[in-house]
Order: sequence, then structure tokens, then C-alpha cells
Amino acid sequence: MSKIPEKVRFAPSPTGHLHIGGARTALFNYLHAKKTGGSFLVRIEDTDLARSTQESEEVIIRDLNWLGIHWDEGIEVGGEHGPYRSMERKHLYQPFIDQLLKEGKAYYCYCTEEEVEEQRKKQRANNELPHYTGKCRNLTPEQREQYEKEGRKPVIRFRVPEDQTIVVKDLVRGDVEFDSNGTGDFVIVKSDGAPVYNFAVVVDDYLMNITTVIRGEEHLSNTPRQVLLYEALNFPVPKFAHVSLILGEDRSKMSKRHGSTHVDQYRAKGYLPEAIVNFLALLGWSPEKGEEEIFSLDELEKLFTLDRVTKNPAVFDIKKLNWMNGQYIRKAPLDKIVEMCIPYFVEAGYITEEEIQTKREWLVKIVEAARERMEYLEQIKEHARIFFDDALHFENDEAESMIHLDHVPMLLQALREKVKAVDTIDKEFANGIFKVLQKETGVRGKNLYMCIRVALTGQCHGMELVDILEILGKEKVISKIDQVLTYLA
Ligand code: GLU
Repeated sequence: MSKIPEKVRFAPSPTGHLHIGGARTALFNYLHAKKTGGSFLVRIEDTDLARSTQESEEVIIRDLNWLGIHWDEGIEVGGEHGPYRSMERKHLYQPFIDQLLKEGKAYYCYCTEEEVEEQRKKQRANNELPHYTGKCRNLTPEQREQYEKEGRKPVIRFRVPEDQTIVVKDLVRGDVEFDSNGTGDFVIVKSDGAPVYNFAVVVDDYLMNITTVIRGEEHLSNTPRQVLLYEALNFPVPKFAHVSLILGEDRSKMSKRHGSTHVDQYRAKGYLPEAIVNFLALLGWSPEKGEEEIFSLDELEKLFTLDRVTKNPAVFDIKKLNWMNGQYIRKAPLDKIVEMCIPYFVEAGYITEEEIQTKREWLVKIVEAARERMEYLEQIKEHARIFFDDALHFENDEAESMIHLDHVPMLLQALREKVKAVDTIDKEFANGIFKVLQKETGVRGKNLYMCIRVALTGQCHGMELVDILEILGKEKVISKIDQVLTYLA
């Protein structure tokens, strides 16, 4: 793979939040720029006026930054090829539109939406691929004048050359061929003067000196039109790399049906940006050597090569992401994880904002014990419930039947006595108590551990019992035991 510095770009349309697929495209661009010692640009493609929103733009930028995918040039950062929103670049597109019109490579078309739709309907009925028939291709000045008089607002169409094979040279897919006859003369400027994506993208990539266009496979069908425009404008054609779709586990295109599809949804659930980046990098790419799967962004910057991007679709495996996120949760500094968990404690109503400082030490203990079992941080709500919920309830029949075993009152009395006799439950006590109880009561195994667990938490499984005892502390352990004993009496 070339070591020539490459200039690449991510060009999201601000028509929704940052999609997992978009984030992966951004990441691959970023990594390719780093790997080749080149630069990475982000610009906003807001040509779809009806669907573009300021809010989407803000969220996309925020989430890219959150993932640690930073850019050298573009929106917010600035640079010499701005502005970095398509709709602010209309004056830059104009000379190229004029050039195409002058050279007869584009023309005004006065067909109304309804007329074009009518044509399409007919073509479909005849089993033809819908495309513009070229009705306005060769209008005389008089015909144009007549339409203008009628008050029709024209679009500008690109005149697609006939009988041409358009070859898209794709770094991931090899040569992909398209027949120009299937394309039809397409609109490059709408009747309100707004540029159309396929045109704006070409001019932008040219003016911004983009050397390789890395984007999702869903854009492959746009690429022949763009190649025709490059050629018509005498621009050098950049290299293309169309990255495969991300599929859900049922192998259909990933959508809401498959769960969370946007970066902010994962962020809200408490996925770590490092884990998401690591996971996304492996969706369609793998390093040359080894079985290793945990990579930091720094490592990826060194390892990534475009030629290892596969053309097979990548399957989004949430179990793998959860596993990976768990790894990052356990590896991160405890303090950082505590900080990230605090909003969930507040959200669940376990603590108030005011209590964050006073209860901090206790929260640290809870998070430390729970993080061994967490896949994403929102799960702290579930894990921590046992420490904040004083009501007595059993999670299921199994728990209920454990608590009704004959030996339970005797066992809990024995535990109560031992706890009563110490000032606090420290690690040492918690670690040693089960052996002592086993010896004194003769109860062992599940009858010992699970019965105590159910008495203290209402659950049959969960975090280490030793941690639970210590975190609950002397008073809570005694009151919980009393509650159960009263219930059983
Ligand atoms: N604006 C397009 C999108 O958000 C990207 C187009 C491109 O990368 O050329 O899907």
C-alpha cells in the first residue's frame, strides 16, 4: 500500500445522528490518513435541505470528537479550502456549472416533477429502468423562452454520454463497470438553485485535493455519475474505496430492528469510546498477523492498511462489542469508570446530585465490585440496586424456594451474631465468615452461599458475596437479616 501521504475526507449529511456505519467510514478515513502520513478532512454535505438539521450536525461533530476521531481540516477546525458546508459553497460551484453549460455538457430542463414522474411510471410499466428520457436535451432558444414565459423554473441536467462503459476503479472491489445508458441525464442543480449531492461532492473533492474517497458501499451506485462529472470537468479522478455494508446478525442491512444503530445510543448506555473504535475497526478490516483483537487507536493508526479491508459485508455482533467493552471497563482506571457511572446512580434515583461527594467512597466500592461483571456502564443500575433498595423481594421462584429451606433461619441467626460482634464488616471479616459459619452450622455449598445471597439481595446470582457483605455494611446486613427472619417467622 502506498506510503504517499493521502488526503481523505468524511462528508456526512446532517440528516440524522452519527450512524455506526458512518462512524466506521470516518474511522477508516482517519486511519488511512494517519497511516500514510496524510491528512483527514471533515465537511458537511447539507444539500438535502429538507432533511438537514443543525442539531444533527452538532451531534455528528460531538460524537466524532468523543470517539477520538479528530480531523486536520474542515468544519469547526477550519482550513484553506472552506467553507466546509455544501450550501455555503454555492459560489464555488457556479463556475463549474457555467463551464458545463457552455460546453454543452449540461443543459436546462423544464420538465416538471409530475412530467418526470409520469415518464418514470411508463418506463416501469414497460419493464425499463426509470431514467430521464432527454426531452429537454436539445431545446431551441425559442422553446426555452416559451418555458420561461410560462414561469417554469428549470433544473440543470448533466448530459450523459451514450454507449459508454464507465469503470470505477475501486481499491476494495476492483474494477466495477457500469453502462452509461442506464444512468439517464441526471440533475446537478435543482430548480431552486441548490446543488445536488452528486455534483457538489465532485467539485468539493476536487477543490479540496482529496486523493482517495473512502465511503460506504451504498454510494457505489453514485460513483459512475461522479466519474462522468470528473471527466467532463477535466478533473483527475480520485481513487475510490467502497467499504461494505454492516449487517445485523440475521444478515440483513443493519437497521433499528437490530437494536441501537447510532453512536450516541451506545454512548448513553455506557460504552467506552475506545471500545467502540476498536470494535468498528474490526468491522470489515483485520490486521495482517495474529489473533489479537484488542487495539488502541494508536495501535490501529500503525496497523491499518486499506488493502486489508474486505469486500464481504461485516456482521455487527453485539456480543462481541459487549465482550470488548467489558474488557475496556476492567482495564480503565477505576476513578474514570466511577465518574462515568455516577450519572446512572443519579438517574436511577439511588443518590442525589448533592450526595455524590459524601457517598463517593461507597460508590467507588460498588463500582469496583460490579465492574467485573459489566458489559456496559448502564448495567450499574441493575448491579447496584441491591444496595439501595431496602424492600424485600425475591427475583424468581428459585430465590423464593432457597429462602424457604429449613436451615435458613438458623443460618441467618448465626450470621447475625457474628456480624453483631464486630464493629464493621471489613474485607478480612467478609472473607473469613463463610468458613466459620460452615464449621458452626454444618451448612455448606449452595445451601450456605446462595441462601445468604438470597437473604441479602433477593437474587441467586450476582457479584461476589464477600463484596456484597462489605458494601452493605454491618447495619444493613443486620436489618436485612431481620427482615427475612420476620418474613419467615
Ligand atoms: N454525504 C454522504 C452521506 O452522508 C457521503 C457521501 C460521500 O462520502 O461521498 O452518506
